[in-house]
Amino acid sequence: MKMLEEKLKIDKISKGTVIDHIDAGYALTILNLTGLDESKNLMTIGVNVSSKKYQTKDIIKIENVFLNETQMQQISILSPNATISLIENYKVIEKKKVKIPKTIKKLIMCVNQTCISNSEKEPISTEFTVLEEKPLKIQCVYCERIYKLEEIVFTSKEKKGKKVKQRIQL
Ligand SMILES: [Zn+2]
Repeated sequence: MKMLEEKLKIDKISKGTVIDHIDAGYALTILNLTGLDESKNLMTIGVNVSSKKYQTKDIIKIENVFLNETQMQQISILSPNATISLIENYKVIEKKKVKIPKTIKKLIMCVNQTCISNSEKEPISTEFTVLEEKPLKIQCVYCERIYKLEEIVFTSKEKKGKKVKQRIQL
């Protein structure tokens, strides 16, 4: 693991994004959920990399890709400690921590079948209030059901330009 950490430090990318301090074991879920796994760009993924701050962490480096707001939100839900660094000419031009929004819209499903967001006739977009960030606890604004991180079902992701309904169960 030590060697992998060294290697990840050495393998700098010229341009793109480094997602660091991902909670250990979540890198592949993040790639899948954000649709980054569809990318043809060069990616380096480190899973269970030793970290001074969090013991182990995951890290993703992806060339020529910058994240959009939805992807940042998805990462913040799965890994509230994650940091995003934007790289240009091998240098970090911007580094930011992900931030969980106060309300999460559309990204998560409410699994309560009687919730108005699952209404067959007039389905409405889901909306959750973030009650606690660490550990994550959210509440459906419609039926008031409360979810912990491991109970969350994500709704959909962009795939090759079109929206594909996909449930991602953690
Ligand atoms: Zn609900």
